[in-house]
Amino acid sequence: MNHRQILPGKTIGVLGSGQLGRMFAIAARRLGYRVHVLSPDDDTPTGQVADVEIRASYDELDAVARFARAVDVVTFEFENVPLETVQAVESHAPVRPGGRVLHTTQNRLREKTFLREAGFPVTPFHTVRSENDLNSALQSLESAGVIKTAAWGYDGKGQRRVDSGDSASEIWSAMNEVDLVLEKFVDFDCELSVVVARGIDGICACYPPIQNIHRDHILDVSLSPAGLSPRVASEATEIARHVVESLEVVGVLCVEFFLTCGGELLINELAPRPHNSGHLTIDAHVTCQFEQQVRAVCGLPLGSVQQLQPAAMVNLLGDLWRSGEPNWSEACSSPSIKLHLYGKHEPRPGRKMGHLTALSESVQSAEASAKAAREALVNDGLKDHARPVSAAPTAG
Ligand code: AMP
Repeated sequence: MNHRQILPGKTIGVLGSGQLGRMFAIAARRLGYRVHVLSPDDDTPTGQVADVEIRASYDELDAVARFARAVDVVTFEFENVPLETVQAVESHAPVRPGGRVLHTTQNRLREKTFLREAGFPVTPFHTVRSENDLNSALQSLESAGVIKTAAWGYDGKGQRRVDSGDSASEIWSAMNEVDLVLEKFVDFDCELSVVVARGIDGICACYPPIQNIHRDHILDVSLSPAGLSPRVASEATEIARHVVESLEVVGVLCVEFFLTCGGELLINELAPRPHNSGHLTIDAHVTCQFEQQVRAVCGLPLGSVQQLQPAAMVNLLGDLWRSGEPNWSEACSSPSIKLHLYGKHEPRPGRKMGHLTALSESVQSAEASAKAAREALVNDGLKDHARPVSAAPTAG
């Protein structure tokens, strides 16, 4: 036995308690591990399926240390866990992926600077730390741009579209943050992601690229296979493999790309964990992204990423509850639909409550079935394609 291996029967600690932790915990328990979760809430999506749920804020370092002493390895389900929390854990149990990956990916400026310096293709950007920086960055924009907060941004939160002629002082005071990134607005042909796992032995396993369609900045639909040219598919996979190797990740990492209208791949962002676009791997692949994460952090060999069937995943946001409990029975009436709900009690607009995956003989028919099943959930006759776009998203 490899002494770095943590075998089934041992206990995995998870920092963070949302749906990613839940699906990780389900995979871990299926493999025979025990799961402890720590987060500031209780009755959480992860806590509901874990062996032990600890309610403590991330800066209660005594509670964090007690949590860490009771487990054999710790992972996190979202990258905004404070670094001090990770350091408090590291004195008692290994954290995988390690603090360096977390530190780099917690902040868009650090992440983009790392990628650019390492020679990866990233969306052109400017660092903005003052109104003056913003003024000159706006002036150097050829056309539209997107301004984003460097920290705490996800699902389009903390970002807005801007134009070269806009007023720097208005944007600076509206953003109300000291660290910002101004990116060129990318006129993309499509968005795609590559989920890649890297084991403790450095061996990598890359899922095929997944095509992603966003709505109101939130992932709406993921499709696999992505329907890319073989050149783009292999280039995206190679880039993802190099990123996971450069960051020496032990675990799962997702690389999100824009494919420009000129056929160029640009990295939009990294997620050092399983990703929403990889949820379809649960039903469509031999080994899902969550099991892969369990295997990687426990030092087991990675599983096969072979795809069993074309698949489409649609997110189920809180908006679907607008006229009461969705019609689950109707959505399940198609036998190839797999329903995943996250156990969240409050269905707020924009909040990710669950997802549906459809499997079919082609990705096109999988997409049609997944969308039809989602439409069938709503009872009020105001079907999804007819509804107005939702207001600004609320916390995931
Ligand atoms: P992010 O939180 O940075 O992943 O952004 C959420 C979504 O907003 C992306 O998936 C894109 O659909 C869109 N977006 C973000 N940045 C840009 C950009 N520079 N150009 C075009 N669209 C963008």
